[in-house]
Amino acid sequence: TLITTDYDTIAAVSTPAGVGGISIVRISGSDALKIAQKIYRGKQLDQVTTDTINYGHIIDPANDNSEVDEVMVSVMRAPKTYTKEDIIEINCHGGIQVTNKVLQIVLRNGARMAEPGEFTKRAFLNGRIDLSQSEAVMDLIDAKTDEARKAALNQLDGNLSAVIKKLRQKIVDLLANVEVNIDYPEYDGAEEVTSKLMLERAREIKTDINHLLDTAQQGKVLRDGLNTAIVGRPNVGKSSLLNRLLHEEKAIVTDVPGTTRDVLDEYVNVAGVPLHLVDTAGIRDTEDKVEKIGVGRSRDAIKQSDLVLLVLNANEPLTDEDRELLDLTQNNKRIILLNKTDLDEHLDITELKQNYGASEIIKTSAIAENGTKSLEDTISKLFFTKGIASTQNDVMVTNARHISLLQQALDSVQTVIDGVESGLPVDIAQIDLHSAWDYLGEITGDSYDDELMDQLFEKFCIGK
Ligand code: GDP
Ligand code: ZN
Repeated sequence: TLITTDYDTIAAVSTPAGVGGISIVRISGSDALKIAQKIYRGKQLDQVTTDTINYGHIIDPANDNSEVDEVMVSVMRAPKTYTKEDIIEINCHGGIQVTNKVLQIVLRNGARMAEPGEFTKRAFLNGRIDLSQSEAVMDLIDAKTDEARKAALNQLDGNLSAVIKKLRQKIVDLLANVEVNIDYPEYDGAEEVTSKLMLERAREIKTDINHLLDTAQQGKVLRDGLNTAIVGRPNVGKSSLLNRLLHEEKAIVTDVPGTTRDVLDEYVNVAGVPLHLVDTAGIRDTEDKVEKIGVGRSRDAIKQSDLVLLVLNANEPLTDEDRELLDLTQNNKRIILLNKTDLDEHLDITELKQNYGASEIIKTSAIAENGTKSLEDTISKLFFTKGIASTQNDVMVTNARHISLLQQALDSVQTVIDGVESGLPVDIAQIDLHSAWDYLGEITGDSYDDELMDQLFEKFCIGK
């Protein structure tokens, strides 16, 4: 079947709210063409070929067919569309009044206002993509760096789904095997063979799940970024280094709407990893806010961070305050930035290495503008076992929901292994194998409940 269910026709503005060159009102559903035809003066839309864009005017049937806007109307016929349904996209002039008026007319003529993410939900319900792919759509939109975009696209292409499907198939095969042996107990030694097989396969499945979970930490770093604290005593060059990072060409700064200036979220792209700078408002705003705040405030930032960039002044010997910060961050993932290396070096690196062991030390200079490359390499080394570049084509688990489901599946498989090892009959052990299969299915949406779906798609923006 091409379209599995006949849903009602939905519509929304699919472009961002506000004034722009164009705005797009999207309509999806079996009445999309009919509705468009009622409110459009131009070609006969049900006669035009699919995937064409057509010039004309939107008219208001409730107001003597008066012209509302001059538009281009895209006609995309089911099933090869985003939702697998008929889709009409009205490209209006990008004013708020015009766009809203067109949307209202569409709604008055038979469409229902779409909920957030409902177009993507349709793509899922109509079987074009699975649940993990729908989530990838959202990740793609939210991607903060190019690497995060690639990871999302990889997931959207269905690569994660394929791995999960294979895993579930393995489980089904095993369950079937067990079933057969249970049903034909006259076969000599069925019991023994079955538990041996069960154990072997369960261990294989465990290895597979573990392999996926291994990618999760890296995947999450790419997707959500690292909470990064830049700490150091006054005047070591924190602001200067940060400004350099921010002004690098590829650096991006994201303002998250709805947050105030004080808790502004800022991301710097370092080697494809979005560094979410903790407490930067203080560092960036004025020269002395951080100076006044001192170590006390840094303590909080350090606690919240995945990565600490500790800046020291290479031009001066270590001070007590430096040592305090070094002690404070001893258990964090930490990179020490020896700044001001363009000046004479008065800091004893040997002492630093002896006392503060394993941390990464990078020489930088905010004046001579070096050290960025080393910083990128070090971050890549600290968080990506194979380096970030060779990671990007792998299937990576990036999503917290998927991670938790994999973890639950792993626990179930472990229960199977423990059970069989301690002599539990296989037909009892297979119950947990079945739960593992269910958990994995929730990742792709092969087993899902409505409440979960609603929660997932609510996170989308309207019109997507
Ligand atoms: P913060 O208090 O840690 O944020 O330090 P600032 O970034 O405000 O820098 C303090 C002073 O050191 C300023 O005058 C900077 O121009 C200077 N400075 C920062 N980085 C360097 C560097 O790498 N080399 C030199 N020579 N001066 C620097
Ligand atoms: Zn400063």
